[in-house]
Amino acid sequence: MEAEYDVIILGAGAAGLSAGLYTARAMMNTLILESLGPGGQLLITDEIENYPGFRNGVKGPELSQEMEEQTTRFGAKLEYTEVEGLDDLDKPLKVVHTYDRDYTARAIIIATGGAHNKLGVPGEEAYAGKGVSYCAVCDGNFFRGQDVVVVGGGDSALDEGHYLSGIVNSVTIIHRRDELRGTKLLQDRAFNNPKVKFLWSHVVEEFVGNDILEVARVKDLKSEKVYDYPTAGAFIYVGFHPCTEYLQGTMELDPLGHVYTDIHMRTNIPGVYACGDARADSTRQLGAAVGDGITAALAAYHDLSS
Ligand code: NAP
Repeated sequence: MEAEYDVIILGAGAAGLSAGLYTARAMMNTLILESLGPGGQLLITDEIENYPGFRNGVKGPELSQEMEEQTTRFGAKLEYTEVEGLDDLDKPLKVVHTYDRDYTARAIIIATGGAHNKLGVPGEEAYAGKGVSYCAVCDGNFFRGQDVVVVGGGDSALDEGHYLSGIVNSVTIIHRRDELRGTKLLQDRAFNNPKVKFLWSHVVEEFVGNDILEVARVKDLKSEKVYDYPTAGAFIYVGFHPCTEYLQGTMELDPLGHVYTDIHMRTNIPGVYACGDARADSTRQLGAAVGDGITAALAAYHDLSS
């Protein structure tokens, strides 16, 4: 039996679209499966300042649209469905189970990326969409002119806090330590932004309100004091996890669920590759995801041709 596709790419974020661009241009029959919309993290990123070639920055959704059009122009097919699992990975004809149907391919490139972590405190789920958010670009406008909090001290918290400060009245960054994890440039920008305040060595213990969020119940870790901090919105940026649940039991994953690869993006299974935020040791940068995708595509092309 012949495989329907030379390669199936799981995920149409920056890594998956870059892989698809290269496999399609190498005349490999390419299918990209995506559960939401093409772009992945690009879709929820407003301004990207560190992608080479765009000295004035570029908007995430605009770049993702360009990438999608470029990749499909060279013949990669894009379908929207949820991948449920993989089978027969050790065989020449590998099977991808999706919500709608099964597909077969000679090679599979995993590029399903990751998602922001939840904080895991009471009220977080109840107020999701009613004040609690994981996407400033999607939801920031609902809080125009109001006071919001951002939870976390990494690049995401600082980047998104900066974006929000252009819309809201004030942004309070709640961080569990008295030192930020984010890069120096983003830290300096936050410290120099008059709309950004900090609650150092604080954690959120609960989100409280009526129909909508009204306060973040916070704890000062130094004084042990618990008190209510009024806020209209809470944006959670406390890290990131790979979207690889569907791979459990099929291949080598690290303890957090990232796929192990070599420097050519080959996994421990011949004909299966992983790239971008889903792979172990990813730097989680857009440029790196693009490079990973290209590397995976070239490895797949080399392996299928030899
Ligand atoms: P991150 O770097 O892992 O930072 C997560 C932050 O959340 C840390 O400050 C951490 O505190 C805090 N945190 C974790 N669990 C918590 C909890 N349960 N309660 C309270 N606070 C908690 O994650 P990220 O900011 O999403 O960044 C992920 C990756 O994407 C990084 O490699 C980053 O460089 C990259 N990124 C880059 C850019 C950019 O280049 N502009 C933008 C966004 C993301 P501690 O510091 O105490 O651990």
